[in-house]
Amino acid sequence: MPTDEASTDAATDTIAAISTPPGRGGIGIVRLSGPLSASIAAQLVSPRQPLKHAHSRLADVRDAGDAESARIDEALVTFFASPNSYTGEDLVEIAAHGSPVVLDFLLRRALALGARLAEPGEFTQRAFLSGRLDLTQAEAVRDLIDAQTLTQARQAASQMGGALSRRVAPVKQDLLELIALLEAGIDFAEDDVDVTPQAEIARRIGALTPPLAALEASFARGRIVHDGFSLALVGRPNVGKSSLFNRLVERDRAIVTATPGTTRDVITERIALGGIPLELVDTAGLRQKSRETIEEAEQLGMLRSREALADAALVLVVLDATQPLNDEERELLGAVEGRPALAVLNKCDLVGSGPACAEIEGIPAIATSALTGQGVPELRERILSLATGGAAADPGLLTNLRQHQAITTALGALADAAKANAGGIPHEMILLDLYRALWALDSLTGQTTPDDILNLIFSTFCIGK
Ligand code: GDP
Repeated sequence: MPTDEASTDAATDTIAAISTPPGRGGIGIVRLSGPLSASIAAQLVSPRQPLKHAHSRLADVRDAGDAESARIDEALVTFFASPNSYTGEDLVEIAAHGSPVVLDFLLRRALALGARLAEPGEFTQRAFLSGRLDLTQAEAVRDLIDAQTLTQARQAASQMGGALSRRVAPVKQDLLELIALLEAGIDFAEDDVDVTPQAEIARRIGALTPPLAALEASFARGRIVHDGFSLALVGRPNVGKSSLFNRLVERDRAIVTATPGTTRDVITERIALGGIPLELVDTAGLRQKSRETIEEAEQLGMLRSREALADAALVLVVLDATQPLNDEERELLGAVEGRPALAVLNKCDLVGSGPACAEIEGIPAIATSALTGQGVPELRERILSLATGGAAADPGLLTNLRQHQAITTALGALADAAKANAGGIPHEMILLDLYRALWALDSLTGQTTPDDILNLIFSTFCIGK
């Protein structure tokens, strides 16, 4: 029988922290969570009315905490009673003016009154421990706060609402039922519980796999929504890399941060493309100064192109539509073969409207004009769909490696179980693989106690004696 490893005992001390960012602000919030929250708050800021669940009270912040001492600030105190709070514990938020000295004063006094300084993320950790959030939801809280684009915020909010857990829940339920079925066959063999046929086990394991495989595949999109990706523009000098770079950047200029002249003479800019953060790497900055240096410039350009494409998740090989391919360009196209890459046939405004070629040297191609903007919207779309591996924007994506590993482990364990079943291995052994799959899914969302499994056995199989 598996043991319940994670203790769900709520911590019993009361924690406090300043929950707004450091520095001056319009308001600043001190947060308390734990059994002493309300009593500490009452002494800390003397609310004008008694604290009441989900109500805000005006309060005075006084120098020594008592009604006679000088008033330092006015605050709004909001109380949430356990279990209906973010942490699941009694929780108080004191919103004062955002003066660092006032907030610091409040925090120090809260500590003197019996609170402990909260660890980073401890409020959310307590929400997790008290069962208010599962692990994916807790991660989403962090992702929401870190979001740089609204698309990322939406993704995090949907995960915080349990989108990922909801996707996994039915699979886990089916897995639990299969485990229950096999356990019952073993535990109650003497009670004439039928042994589940091999084909039925195979069918049930087979049904668990596709939803998990789809989830695993969602990581291609989830990871780039979460982390963003890098895109390099490579090619010979003068093909129009800088001009294309500017075209791609212009619409989303608002959030870009330019870092020109990095050590490798490449320019990188962060933009958001379709709400996904994207680091553009341009090998520009290289100009021919005279006829003698053309060859030198080309060589240097190629060197930088190779450097830039080594690191990038996605590569645009920019070509000049008015020029035939040269050896270096063939080499670049060869170097990106098999990787997410596009050949961009730029300056198409100069060559009339010939038939657009779908690929060049085996690399998917697109015609653009950085001058007129022709083909640029299509280029943006192609970049996005390449970066996301074409994965749909379903709710409940895997967005980090931990989640991905949990699903990969579960899939691996299910594959082992299927193999064991096909080989006629005893059910005790198949169960080991199934439990491994279950533990992996549990590591994603939270915990299943062995009691759950027992309850399931008894609820789905009425033994009746
Ligand atoms: P890079 O060296 O690859 O970064 O190339 P640039 O972006 O500096 O462009 C080189 C020259 O080509 C400049 O004079 C641009 O104005 C011109 N150019 C860039 N893209 C186009 C295009 O699509 N059509 C035309 N006609 N000229 C372009």
